[in-house]
Amino acid sequence: MRFTVAIDGPAAAGKGTISRVLARRFGFAHLDTGLLYRAVGKRVMGGDDPLVAARSLTAADLAAPGLRDPEVAQAASRVAVIPEVRAALVDFQRAFARTEGGAVLDGRDIGTVICPGAEVKLFVTASAEVRARRRYDEDMAAGHALSYDDVLAEVRARDDRDTNRADAPLRPAEDAVIVDTSQMSVDEAVAEAVRLVEARL
Ligand code: C5P
Repeated sequence: MRFTVAIDGPAAAGKGTISRVLARRFGFAHLDTGLLYRAVGKRVMGGDDPLVAARSLTAADLAAPGLRDPEVAQAASRVAVIPEVRAALVDFQRAFARTEGGAVLDGRDIGTVICPGAEVKLFVTASAEVRARRRYDEDMAAGHALSYDDVLAEVRARDDRDTNRADAPLRPAEDAVIVDTSQMSVDEAVAEAVRLVEARL
């Protein structure tokens, strides 16, 4: 059985949580595609050429410490504007989407570019303030020291870069269901996602 769930949206909107719950509940494989860009960004911070890094990513790169750090997130969104970097990561993502038993991929361009034929497409969003508050709380728990204002600035800078790049900009696919989690609990957003998947299975 092949079944692909595409979950896109800006940083800290709740994509990761929704994807993990769907994967567990339906037995789907899960790929957090942001990790690919973070791994490339991290290698570039270490002095590598972006394209060389994107073409030679290893499992160790994807498990490198610090991939969740805010400066790696910024480096990721800078390499993510380079069309050749994006192109180098397409085949891996598309092959993953075809995993037997189903797959859920979360990112920025899954429903628009990577898997335009996905059976379920969600665009998960929330206001920049709500997302920054969530990311700030997570960062505090993980021991990072950015202030709320710094986190908000970081979120806005990435939104801006991800939305305005020429290649695969962040935007909902025409047939995506928009889930705005600004006023919604995570449980409600998850329930909505589960309903959509069940309706297509
Ligand atoms: O999702 P995450 O915050 O880990 O993504 C880090 C960065 O990687 C994003 O800000 C975006 O620039 C880039 N990205 C992308 N396309 C994806 C996933 C992530 O451009 N499918």
